[in-house]
Amino acid sequence: MQKVKLTDELSFSPIVHGLWRLADWNMNSEETLKLIEACLELGITTFDHADIYGNYSCEGLFGEALQLNPRLREKMEIVTKCGIKLLSDKHPEHKVKHYDTSQAHILKSVENSLSRLKTDYIDVLLIHRPDPFMNPEEVAEAFTRLKTEGKVKHFGVSNFTPSQFRMLSSYLDFPLVTNQVEISVSHLHAFEDGTIEQCLENRVAPMAWSPLAGGQIFQAHDEKSLRLRKTLEEVGKELGGIELDQVMYAWLLNHPARMIPIAGSGNYNRIKAAVEATKIQMTRQQWFKIWIASTGTDVA
Ligand code: NAP
Repeated sequence: MQKVKLTDELSFSPIVHGLWRLADWNMNSEETLKLIEACLELGITTFDHADIYGNYSCEGLFGEALQLNPRLREKMEIVTKCGIKLLSDKHPEHKVKHYDTSQAHILKSVENSLSRLKTDYIDVLLIHRPDPFMNPEEVAEAFTRLKTEGKVKHFGVSNFTPSQFRMLSSYLDFPLVTNQVEISVSHLHAFEDGTIEQCLENRVAPMAWSPLAGGQIFQAHDEKSLRLRKTLEEVGKELGGIELDQVMYAWLLNHPARMIPIAGSGNYNRIKAAVEATKIQMTRQQWFKIWIASTGTDVA
């Protein structure tokens, strides 16, 4: 698979593997290592984490697996996030769920991520959510310090609106390399709020979280999901009998914005299907058929 270039020094695999649900997969370290190795063999080299995933446990589960074969570290790009403070038995000092993008928290969160992931650097650190109490000067200071110390190589954001992205960028001496946002056939907000246009304008490849709408779309019985499933099946047939998940990935991958879907499955065959979807060519009319099924209305 051809990698997606984010900067001269950084490329991602066109499918990223997401570890949000890792703790639910009930794998031991050997099984997790096998999954990581299988992803690498499939050409998935980029892994998406956050400090908070699995109630602050997923990074550690991944790190313990990585420790069984530390040479794998140099074959992958690790993305992780910070900035959300969960109500958690692990953090009784959090009395209310909130965001924290203070310099002190960013630096501490990265130290914790490095220690849990059993690595001495993070390829990309994202601010997980826009923080209404953000001091961008502090974020810039934290990022610059982490970059200078070699602990984090690149920085990005997640769930930022275009104006939030632009505002934070204006405080940095280096570009934000991605905006990780929810994009799928059933979630079109990024097309409506200017995010996709901004990514195209700045040549920034967006990461698409929940590319299969979190799996809901396979079972849901609401009108929109039924309409989408019917259309995805039709397009899947036209494309030679491919499954719904591959049509959904292909819909993202065929878009000119170089969207990078984050596959959140723990199932090897489903991850492989995502990789195979990178070869599918979708016509403009098929793309619009799905768009129309999602919006429920013809284009003007
Ligand atoms: P997703 O790929 O849309 O959904 C994955 C879920 O769908 C899994 O539970 C999976 O179950 C199920 N699924 C996949 N294929 C299926 C099929 N053919 N039939 C039925 N169920 C199917 O992605 P996601 O897990 O919601 O999100 C992906 C990643 O995005 C996360 O891991 C995380 O890294 C990132 N994320 C980021 C944010 C953010 O705010 N930045 C938010 C949410 C997620 P199986 O495991 O059984 O296959």
